[in-house]
Amino acid sequence: MIKKFFLFLLFVVLILVGIVLFNTFRFQPNQQAVESVPAPELTETSLQHFQQALSYKTISYGDPSLFDSSQFIGFRKFLEATYPKTHEVLSREIVAGYSLLYKWEGKNADLKPVVLMAHQDVVPIEEATKSMWTVDPFAGVIKDNFIWGRGTTDDKINVIAILETVEKLVIENFQPERTVYIVFGHDEEIGGKGATTIAKLLKDRNIAAEFVLDEGGLITAEKVPGMTKPIALLGTAEKGYLSLKLSVSLPGGHSSMPEKETAIDVLAKGLNTLRGKPFEPEFSEPMHGLMQSLGPEMPFVQRMAFANPWLFKKLILGTYSQSNTGDAMIRTTMVPTIIEAGIKDNVVPTVATAVVNFRLLPGHTSDQVIEDVKKKIDDERVNVAPLNKNVSEPSPVTPINGFGYQKIAGTIKKSYPQIITSPFLVIGATDSRHFTEVSSNIIKFSPMIDPIGFHGIDERVSLESYKTALWFYEQLLRDLQ
Ligand SMILES: [Zn+2]
Repeated sequence: MIKKFFLFLLFVVLILVGIVLFNTFRFQPNQQAVESVPAPELTETSLQHFQQALSYKTISYGDPSLFDSSQFIGFRKFLEATYPKTHEVLSREIVAGYSLLYKWEGKNADLKPVVLMAHQDVVPIEEATKSMWTVDPFAGVIKDNFIWGRGTTDDKINVIAILETVEKLVIENFQPERTVYIVFGHDEEIGGKGATTIAKLLKDRNIAAEFVLDEGGLITAEKVPGMTKPIALLGTAEKGYLSLKLSVSLPGGHSSMPEKETAIDVLAKGLNTLRGKPFEPEFSEPMHGLMQSLGPEMPFVQRMAFANPWLFKKLILGTYSQSNTGDAMIRTTMVPTIIEAGIKDNVVPTVATAVVNFRLLPGHTSDQVIEDVKKKIDDERVNVAPLNKNVSEPSPVTPINGFGYQKIAGTIKKSYPQIITSPFLVIGATDSRHFTEVSSNIIKFSPMIDPIGFHGIDERVSLESYKTALWFYEQLLRDLQ
């Protein structure tokens, strides 16, 4: 009997190993066969234009009273003066005060238009970090093969690379096959009212775009473990955004004769309980796509795991959850960001509140998260409600077999040698999230390589990135059939 059982067990194990190996060897690359064409060298003028663009302090402050309209008007005038042919041939509208919408009429009116996006605004330089910068963040310094400054990576590289390319093509009398809309929002970093208004405008004009391309993904030549080739990560979805206010009201009083439990105690317990019950990790659709695209390019062990997620799910999720960015790719995250209670050291406050920020995986909804949070805390005394109206549901997922994804992935392969393209989930928020009613094919990708200092100190992008970005947009616009 024992022998029979042992033989049966051996049989099961052999079958399992067989399936795993079969899947692993059958796991073939899903990459387009496109040869790259070397990018032309950067010209002195294209570099100067990028440097000049960085000198405008188009800053989005948290405090709206600090908004400096003259910088945005100056930047707009700079664009007009620097790209005169573009402003002659393309129509341009100024929307929501400072956002820009260009239209470049295509040859073939039967083809759906495309939308290229970037944003003019940049994040401020924190007072405490000013002295930590190696260079003046608004001087457009070129040093050590990098262009340095606030906005280099986020997102003036795209504004300038798009306009440099359009200007070059317009001078050649080139006309794109499809109509091209170019959208430059002015307040992406603080919610994107500009982009929202433009999206609504396009929708009201019944414009359905074949695809929308905005920032979000990038090229990484060094950051994916196990990979020897560079990778282009194309965002095919974006996480949702929700902040909840947790509040507790209990009778306060004098601190000399305290109650057994105060509002602060109950709130702290609630927060602690919530943090102790994170949302379950899972594979979203972009994550499945990433495994399908990168898996076949990886060394045997990783390839085997990615080829058999049904068996190695726990292992893969466990590995991802070890780093903060990895964890954010596989989970609806939550973190307390504000906590408030008390006004005087000898008074027990009657109200204690906290704000917890959530980033939702595709497939989750804000309503469901609110319900889950209440269940996790399981204390009626803790009131849970949305902090404000700034809630966005996770974006729909762009299909990777559609025209938009395939066209952009193919263009990346043309523009950068030996690159592997893969979908991925964008953890932050971009202006393109407002465009879901304009197109169901939204791709989030900036053609730059391993940028440094995003939103931080010594923000910079390599000259190689700028060269690649110019080449990418040129090839994309030339081939929009
Ligand atoms: Zn940005």
